[in-house]
Amino acid sequence: MSHMPRATVLTGNIADNWRTLDALHPGATTAAVVKADAYGLGIARIARALRIAGCQTFFVAYPEEGAAVRKAAGKAARIFVLNGPMPGRDLALYRDADLTAVLSSEAHVLLWNNTVQGSCALQFNTGMNRLGLPTDLGEKELAGLRRLQPVLVMSHLACADEPDHPMNAQQRKAFNEVADAFPDTPASLANSNGCYLGKKFAYDLTRPGLALYGGTQPPAGIDLKTAVILEASILSVFTGRAGGHVGYGATHTLTEDRLLATCSLGYADGIPRSGGGQMTAWLGDLPCPVLGRISMDLITIDITGCTKQPKIGERVEFLGENAKLEAQASACGTLGYELLTGLGPRVQRVYR
Ligand SMILES: *Cc1c(COP(=O)(O)O)cnc(C)c1O
Repeated sequence: MSHMPRATVLTGNIADNWRTLDALHPGATTAAVVKADAYGLGIARIARALRIAGCQTFFVAYPEEGAAVRKAAGKAARIFVLNGPMPGRDLALYRDADLTAVLSSEAHVLLWNNTVQGSCALQFNTGMNRLGLPTDLGEKELAGLRRLQPVLVMSHLACADEPDHPMNAQQRKAFNEVADAFPDTPASLANSNGCYLGKKFAYDLTRPGLALYGGTQPPAGIDLKTAVILEASILSVFTGRAGGHVGYGATHTLTEDRLLATCSLGYADGIPRSGGGQMTAWLGDLPCPVLGRISMDLITIDITGCTKQPKIGERVEFLGENAKLEAQASACGTLGYELLTGLGPRVQRVYR
């Protein structure tokens, strides 16, 4: 058995999360956002599992990712590429893998019109000012866009994680106006948190990402399952003496004798250094505070409360049923998004 850090990806739970989100808006199609290697968890395995669960629509950021989904999810899947087409090699990928380009600028539209002319979606800027065509287009420009026969019109919410933020209503209003100019085209506005904002935000298609992977903080009544268990091995168990220090910089001082364990995980694996002194690992049901700074390959935790001293090689949970993704991310001063997508290549992915 390897003692490298291990991420056990629970594809069945990810499929269940997709079903849970799908059930929220019965009239709408529920897509799956699998960009960035399915948020670090493995795009091919997850796309396949979701396809089997009934998901037929996928979103990625790059055509290379789209080609991977095409291979995993089969011919009938619809695959949207969010970042849009760029000149060069991109265009052949769109053709070869039958990808739908999300066009978000005049340059995208021109490029698409002059080259691939395949299936496309239109993204509008309703206030986030990231990617999107302007919403104040004239009738002539709109007619030109309609001639592209887009299969979807979409926009993206900037503040969906804050249900009371006025941006949500403002963006919805701006989106309604532009969606009305494409009466026969399905519309999409909601990411994961947008799915929690009610029926008015669901339109014809929702685009959850993080929630599939067990992230976000859904409102009461929506239960998402754990998607990944991140474990390290215990490499060493020893008593740290009162007055001693732990880790680089000797930032943690022991006020009494404590039983310590050093684990095989570090910032090289994507655990933010900012989690030092803040995160909690779990030895079975025992919460074990992370002491001192996180090293490149090692983290020292306090296991004083354990009833039975763990064996060398025993696993400690840093993400999972006890070590909740959003709680761990917040202990590091970051979000579930960044923690998941930051998990490094040294973390062995195991699928269950
Ligand atoms: C990443 C992304 C999503 C998914 O967002 P989550 O917050 O992870 O659900 C949806 N739409 C667009 C345009 C995105 O870039």
